[in-house]
This record gives sequence, C-alpha cells and structure tokens, in this order.
Amino acid sequence: MGELTGRTALVTGAGRGIGRAVARGLARDGALVAVHYHRNETAARETLELIAEDGGQAFGVRSELGVPGDAEALYARLEDTLADRGAGPDLDILVNNAGVSGPGRVQDVTPELFDRLFAVNTRSPFFLVQRGLKNLRDGGRIINISSAVTRIAYPESVAYAMAKGALNTFTLALAKELGPRRITVNAVSPGFIETDMNARKRTTPEAAAQLAALSAFNRIGHPADIADIVVFLASDRSRWITGQCIDASGGSRL
Ligand code: NAP
Repeated sequence: MGELTGRTALVTGAGRGIGRAVARGLARDGALVAVHYHRNETAARETLELIAEDGGQAFGVRSELGVPGDAEALYARLEDTLADRGAGPDLDILVNNAGVSGPGRVQDVTPELFDRLFAVNTRSPFFLVQRGLKNLRDGGRIINISSAVTRIAYPESVAYAMAKGALNTFTLALAKELGPRRITVNAVSPGFIETDMNARKRTTPEAAAQLAALSAFNRIGHPADIADIVVFLASDRSRWITGQCIDASGGSRL
C-alpha cells in the first residue's frame, strides 16, 4: 500500500511535462489521479497508459482553463467521472500545474498577452481553489506550481513572472485561511525544466549548455525533479509545512 492510498488527486495540465510526472508520482504512491488536460488528448492518453503500466489508477478530465466558467466546467466533469466510478466528489490533493508562458519585455507586452498569462496562470488556480473548497477534505493539500522567476529577475517574460508572483501571494494567504482545516498550501518554483514549454530555448547545444549553467548542478531539470517535491508535499510527511514557496531550481543563480 502506498502512502497516498485512498486519496484522490486532481493535477491540472497532467498530459505532458511536469504535470505528467506529478500525476505519475502521486499514482505510484497510491492516489487515484484525475489527469486534467486540454488540447493534447494523445499525450493525456499516454500519461494514463504510463500510470496503468506502473500499477496506478487514473482517469482523464478534459477542460479549457483561463476562460469564463472554467472551474465550474472542470469540477462538473470531475464529479461526473468520479460518480461513474462509484466514488464521491471529495478531493484530497489539488495540484495547480497547468500554465502558459509568454515572452515579452515591459515595452512589448500587449494587453491581450497580459490578460492571457494572468487568466491561465493566476485566475484559473484561484477559482479552481474557490470552487474546490467544498470538495477538498480537511487535512488536504493544495500545491501551486509557480516559477523561480519570482525570485530571479526575468524581464524577458515580465508578465509571466508577475502572474506567478501573484500565485505565490495567493499561496501565503490561502495557507492562513485553510490552516484551521489542516489543509496545507504550498508553491513549488521550478527553474528550467526539460519540457515543451521551453523547447525553443534549447534548440542548439550551446543554448542548452547556457540554461544548464544557471543551475548549481550544471544541468537542466527533469520533470521528475519537481514531481518528487510535489509528492512529498502531498504526503503526510509534509504536514508541518504550509504557506511556503519552495525553490526547486537546482540552485539556479544562487
Ligand atoms: P508544458 O509542457 O507546456 O505543459 C503545459 C500543460 O498545461 C499541458 O498539459 C497543457 O494541456 C496544460 N495547459 C496549458 N494551457 C492550458 C489551458 N488554457 N487550459 C487547460 N490546460 C492547459 O508545461 P510545463 O513545462 O510542464 O509547465 C508546467 C507548469 O510548470 C506551468 O505552470 C509552468 O508555468 C511551470 N513552470 C515550468 C518551467 C519549465 O521550465 N518547464 C519552469 C518554471 C515553471 P494540453 O497539452 O492538453 O493542452
């Protein structure tokens, strides 16, 4: 029996990248995992197959985030699918991972890009939490995937960094709010991780080497580097940690 046996988790953006690794890690430890995705159904199916191969349990939930009514639509699908499996609507672990990046210095960011970055990276996690509060069991876990650009100045993507900064502030306030229910709320801030999100920044060996050199370990992070931290935060062993933004950048720019 895994440490998370009997728990139900929702991981947004779990078809690919960091979210996939998180979903696999939680399922490996025994959680039933809702693998949320949007456009890439093939990738989400692969995530479900990988979890099944590992002996875990998971199901897919498709919905678009960053649009009006997104939280209600996601929970409606989640609750229907859980009911089809004979389970109640309760959740133990919510991982707000789905996100979009977007380059732009202060003079270049359009109002449309600014709104999109905040809609997906900030507004959607906020309302997923608000709508999910009645589903989350006491003693549950909320884990927000932020970014190391909230610590390391990154003017090249200023609006993205600001959106993640707001997510950190939400994490802090929410931890205080939900403490009486023993729900912990933490953020994890990756540095460069090898996913589709930054594939264009690694097209030449020289560019990849430059990204690797940012870390004290001189390598680009793997999705599993982040997933292991998230799985720990989802476990009972992390019960005394709340309201924290945990730097998971492999010691970038120390
Ligand atoms: P990724 O490989 O680009 O995957 C993004 C995931 O989010 C996909 O599963 C995608 O679903 C989902 N998603 C994106 N926009 C969505 C929308 N509007 N509605 C619903 N789902 C949406 O990204 P990643 O690198 O794994 O990043 C995961 C998280 O880590 C993000 O919050 C990101 O900001 C953060 N992060 C990443 C890095 C990095 O270096 N990779 C560094 C710091 C922080 P579909 O594919 O199904 O459309």
